[in-house]
Amino acid sequence: MGHPPPDRDLAVAYLDGDRDPAPLFEHARRLRDEGRGRIVTFSPKVFIPITTLCRDTCTYCTFAKPPGGGGEYLTPDDVMAVARAGDAAGCREALLTLGDRPEDRWPQARDFLASQGHDTTIGYVAAMSELIVDGTGLFPHANPGCMTEAEMAALRPTNVSMGMMLENISPRLMEPGMPHHNCPDKDPALRMAVIEAAGALRIPFTTGILVGIGETGAEIVDSLLALAEVQSRLGHIQEVIVQNFRAKADTRMRRSAEPIPAWFARVAAAARWLLGPEMNLQVPPNLTERYEIYLDAGVNDWGGVSPLTIDWVNPEAPWPHLAELRRRTEARGFELVPRLPVYPEYIDGDWIDSRLIDRVGGAVDDQGYALTLHREGVL
Ligand code: SF4
Repeated sequence: MGHPPPDRDLAVAYLDGDRDPAPLFEHARRLRDEGRGRIVTFSPKVFIPITTLCRDTCTYCTFAKPPGGGGEYLTPDDVMAVARAGDAAGCREALLTLGDRPEDRWPQARDFLASQGHDTTIGYVAAMSELIVDGTGLFPHANPGCMTEAEMAALRPTNVSMGMMLENISPRLMEPGMPHHNCPDKDPALRMAVIEAAGALRIPFTTGILVGIGETGAEIVDSLLALAEVQSRLGHIQEVIVQNFRAKADTRMRRSAEPIPAWFARVAAAARWLLGPEMNLQVPPNLTERYEIYLDAGVNDWGGVSPLTIDWVNPEAPWPHLAELRRRTEARGFELVPRLPVYPEYIDGDWIDSRLIDRVGGAVDDQGYALTLHREGVL
């Protein structure tokens, strides 16, 4: 049986209607098996929150904090302490996550950056990436929010890949009362421009959608179709994350309903259908108790999983122990394989900066998966 081509209206009906989702799930699984086989990947990482200051005020976020209320920068010593511990534990990825352009809002951010000899947070991220590359065997993957083309070009020699969630293509989520009101970096047109610019620079790029923040089924489908369209032209989207909103105490959305896993699995399956067999599709395993249901919806990646550091974006949700992740993945008939932050199909001199390509080559097996690190008690 052939694959039905992506169909916007039918995809919306699967999300919004009472249509039997069984054919969607079956189709998603077949596409995944066809394009990605029976390997499910994860990236052993440490999470390095370069700064928890941010100029935006997304109403679901507990990562960003004000100065004096936990909002701060990690010093170079802080960064390297985490990076060295991750390196020693067998991790491969240094995930550099941070708020968006805090220097535009907070004088404390400008003061810290000046004390380190920088004007911008992204300049500081580039310097921290240099330290990590020089001092450890980790591979930085920067996730600093919106970036200019020049900023991405400056990060490329030390970052094997980069990321920024699209979240959703609908500008409606920026209207008063919606979660991205007064958040200039959440303008979907700006975010799509960043994603396009990354493609022009040949940067392997991770993006994705955040589901359950007030969007409609049609807006979810349109977000996935927008990513599929960019990918068809530029080919640099190495993975798409489908992430479920979790309501956190101390946020304005603390009483908002979270997506129900059975419905959210439909979103993952629709993403596989709309993005095609080759796309690496990830659902985070720490945001759903029975996360293996997403293997039945066509995903092939669990993303970054850390044996050492918490998920700073979802600090209430511990990552599964790797032995448990392996057990549950294998129980569904898959092999769990570690990868670098950059996916195997992007490991060549066209996609990776000349400064890093030999190191990357030395860190992977002949299929491009991470040569790591089955050390006692870690992996
Ligand atoms: S979600 Fe990101 S952009 Fe929004 S407030 Fe939090 S750190 Fe800032």
